[in-house]
Amino acid sequence: MSKINNYKYALCLVDISTLGTKTFSYLIPDDMKGIIKIGQPVTLPFGKGGRKIKGYVVGFSDYLEAGIKAKYIDEILDNEPMFNLEYLRMLEWVANYYFSDLPTVLKTALPEKFFQKNLKNYRKPNKELKVLQTEKSKEKNTLSDTQKKVYEEIKKVNSKTSLLYGITGSGKTEIYFKLIEDTIKDGKNVLFLAPEIALVSQLTSRTIKRFGKTSVGIWHSSITEAEKYKVWQKLRNDEIKILFGARSSVFAPIKNLGLIIIDEENDPAYKQTMPAPRYSAVEVAKKLIELNDGSKLILGSATPDIQSYYEAKNTNSLFVLNKRYNEAELPKVKVVDMRMERGFGNNGIFSKYLMDEIKKTIENKNQVILLINRRGFSSYTQCMECSTIIECPKCAIPLIYHSQTQSHRCHYCGYEIKNLTKCTNCEAEGTLENFGTGTQRVEEIAGKIFPDYKIHRLDSDSLTKKNEHFEILEAFQNGEIDILIGTQMIAKGLDNPNVTLVGVINADLCFNLPDFRSSERGFSLLCQVAGRSGRGKDEGKVIFQTFNNSNIFLDKAREQDYESFFENEIEIREAFDYPPFSKIIRIILSSDNNFRAEKSAMEIAMRLKDWIDKQSLTERLIVMGPAPCILEKIRGEFRFNILVKNKLDEKGHNIILSFLRKIILPNDIKMIIDVDPMDIL
Ligand code: ADP
Ligand code: ZN
Repeated sequence: MSKINNYKYALCLVDISTLGTKTFSYLIPDDMKGIIKIGQPVTLPFGKGGRKIKGYVVGFSDYLEAGIKAKYIDEILDNEPMFNLEYLRMLEWVANYYFSDLPTVLKTALPEKFFQKNLKNYRKPNKELKVLQTEKSKEKNTLSDTQKKVYEEIKKVNSKTSLLYGITGSGKTEIYFKLIEDTIKDGKNVLFLAPEIALVSQLTSRTIKRFGKTSVGIWHSSITEAEKYKVWQKLRNDEIKILFGARSSVFAPIKNLGLIIIDEENDPAYKQTMPAPRYSAVEVAKKLIELNDGSKLILGSATPDIQSYYEAKNTNSLFVLNKRYNEAELPKVKVVDMRMERGFGNNGIFSKYLMDEIKKTIENKNQVILLINRRGFSSYTQCMECSTIIECPKCAIPLIYHSQTQSHRCHYCGYEIKNLTKCTNCEAEGTLENFGTGTQRVEEIAGKIFPDYKIHRLDSDSLTKKNEHFEILEAFQNGEIDILIGTQMIAKGLDNPNVTLVGVINADLCFNLPDFRSSERGFSLLCQVAGRSGRGKDEGKVIFQTFNNSNIFLDKAREQDYESFFENEIEIREAFDYPPFSKIIRIILSSDNNFRAEKSAMEIAMRLKDWIDKQSLTERLIVMGPAPCILEKIRGEFRFNILVKNKLDEKGHNIILSFLRKIILPNDIKMIIDVDPMDIL
């Protein structure tokens, strides 16, 4: 008999509407002692009446906390566990690293149906999401010489994680397919992640054509809970060879994991910001391959995450495809200087060049994509004389103008300048201009300029109606829309060979977010959206409109030159101690009382600084703020940020988290911890 079987108590996870997801200790009856295992579903008596609820065994012990009287477990519902110890270990890591707790993580990971006693009354699962493209059935492709070389290098490398940097259309997916084939031949299974549901469906249909339908499963937030539960059962029985999914599929319990592929690995959608656990699927995947012997992780992107690229370079696990398959041309990009347009008396949002090109394109029966970057929630300030963006001297991020207080503020460190009338760089008077979100009107304006064209808009509003998103995309694919206007959503994955013009209304908005990653985001977004143009037989054009044509990053995006972009960006990251030279922990304090929220944030920041100072670590653990969050008030709560740059890896992480765990907050103050945050909104 193994040791586990002799424990007195089992820790059981239950989900009760009034209490949320929690663990409770139960006595193990003698007749269960040889059988009970982690991951088994059990029925448990609960509350005074002793009504039966469903739970899962997640741990064992011989002790109880004082004052608790445990009841006996009622029944084991299924001998075959729903998850195993390694799985639980992975979730525990998530709970610890992201400052969450195991019940919350389990609740995120397990399908809701797990907690319902009656498993019969399922809703019928939805039909699979419509797949965007229908490619003709193809024979298996043989890899080109370049692809073959990269494939062989990836097979040889020792490192568990590899990065495949390949420009759009370079044939990364074909390499993934070859690696998948090898993994399946070895009797192991594959997890394949894409950042968005639409991309998941595209990839799935491509894979089904290649590998057949029987062994492929799908997992993301839009499949029903019943469907998830079914997939879970299939995984448990080892009936799925390739599981496709978005972020949350890293929590699927895959047996015999051999390979994880994360496509477009730099996409911010891999990080969950709301609600907790605020995990990154990429980091969880790294943990997963660490826990599964012999498994490997392939990260792929046309514009890798700066950190991934840096790490891959330093560990000799970077693989490059820098030509399109069949040497197809990348589209030509033209930058239009909007300050010149103003000089000619055009104060509109469309340059004459862009308007002319739109007309030409549609007269040629081709289609147009216009990108508006709406992540620019806030306004930034630019000098129209020397094009300088007004930035924080300490943080190198744009200052945001607040009209109520007539001040410019840094949302990282709290730095503030009042009544700024002169450019901080060239000192010219009255040349500062605020740029903001006025872009919602692009559709209206385009409608006035081009009354005869069919114009549609795709943004997060269209996501609220479940299928509208897909309907608009389908109409666009079928040529029923001339001009598709959209946010970053349209930059990804769209493969419409009839699109020959992509216009970016204000490319500067991509770079001027108050975030240290804004150059990276801007570069990646512009390359991605440029890649939508000229995918068919006709040559593609791309137009970036800008008020700042001396922006070096815009230049790199125009040339689509990632390596040179990286060289520039990594220097800035190092100079300002941003990742990969540190890791960031974000602490948000909020309250419905503005003054109390700020006061608590100041107090915590001060104590944290003292504590770090006492250990003589101020150079390695750098506390910034508090500063008001960019979204200063959400649902009546005033919000303040503290950011910590950790240059001590795990040790620093633990020092900060142990400090935070000791904090006891008054009832009217809330604290959120976001480890490796994606933004500071
Ligand atoms: P990426 O994933 O890098 O964007 P894809 O793998 O989608 O690139 O390849 C781009 C296009 O080139 C696709 O239409 C694909 O079918 C084609 N292609 C890539 N490699 C091959 C190959 N070895 N043989 C035939 N076609 C290929
Ligand atoms: Zn600052």
